[in-house]
Amino acid sequence: MAAVTVLDPREVPLGGLRAMTVRRTLPHKDISLVGAWCFVDHYGPNRIGADGPGMDVAPHPHTGLQTVSWLFEGTIEHRDSGGVHGMVRPGEMNLMTGGSGVAHSEVSTPETTVLHGVQLWLALPDSARHAPRAFDHYEPASIDVPVVTGGATARVFIGALAGLEGTDGAASPVVVHTPLLGAELVLQPNTSLTLALRPDFEHGILIDTGSLTLADDDGRTTPVAAAELAVIDAGPERIALTAGPDGARVLLLGGTPFEEEIIMWWNFVGRTNEEITTFREEWEAGSERFGQVEGYVGERARIPAPGLPGIKLRSRRRRR
Ligand code: MN
Repeated sequence: MAAVTVLDPREVPLGGLRAMTVRRTLPHKDISLVGAWCFVDHYGPNRIGADGPGMDVAPHPHTGLQTVSWLFEGTIEHRDSGGVHGMVRPGEMNLMTGGSGVAHSEVSTPETTVLHGVQLWLALPDSARHAPRAFDHYEPASIDVPVVTGGATARVFIGALAGLEGTDGAASPVVVHTPLLGAELVLQPNTSLTLALRPDFEHGILIDTGSLTLADDDGRTTPVAAAELAVIDAGPERIALTAGPDGARVLLLGGTPFEEEIIMWWNFVGRTNEEITTFREEWEAGSERFGQVEGYVGERARIPAPGLPGIKLRSRRRRR
């Protein structure tokens, strides 16, 4: 039976001083990736003002990855150097491709009173990581194929859910570059659900609200609390989820193990120290690699790159 590892989040300020705090479970010191998912930031519900500031992340760069913004509540205004200006809202799928280079800003709107969501990164395989920047927006109706079965609903935003027992499953039209799964599941209090898993996928289950107990075919159980990420190694064909007395809303992430070694530093994913050094220098120099974000208004026009550490950056594989 494959192992289940429960990762605790760490609290990280997003975008500098007086920033909103997020709960980061990936990358973790023990596990860097789940499939190509290489970054999991979870935030809220934050009552803006009462619990702290909203989101205000000035223009900053990315390379070699795609970002997925998935909101439960609130609205974020997105601007990027591909000329895209739009709102990110709950239930929508917004996929930004950094590719060879992009810059963007993210600001919760003045009307947003509560902000609650996740930001996820997907590492791009070498074959796709030099692609031009892009932004794909999918309306809820195009991806939200609710799968309802005895006390649970699922919305599949990437890939296909092999099947909830008693249903035909659901598939998302979102285009990605490695085999992946991303879905939101909502379980009513004290209900159980058996998920069919692709045995060639590893999986992560992030608890947004409530709690869950996972049970494998051998009857081994693992409790998982809110804000934790349970990582399930490739292998099992199913897993049973039982929600606690408050129910559970979770994100189910999955993918085939990402076989390439990557270097993640700041907002960049690359392959070598030299490449990361170049990305940093090009961002600092205002290079065309990243382009310009038009229309962002804030205390500073862009986020400067931190200094590189004096030591060689560590490359990451899935497991440390
Ligand atoms: Mn970003």
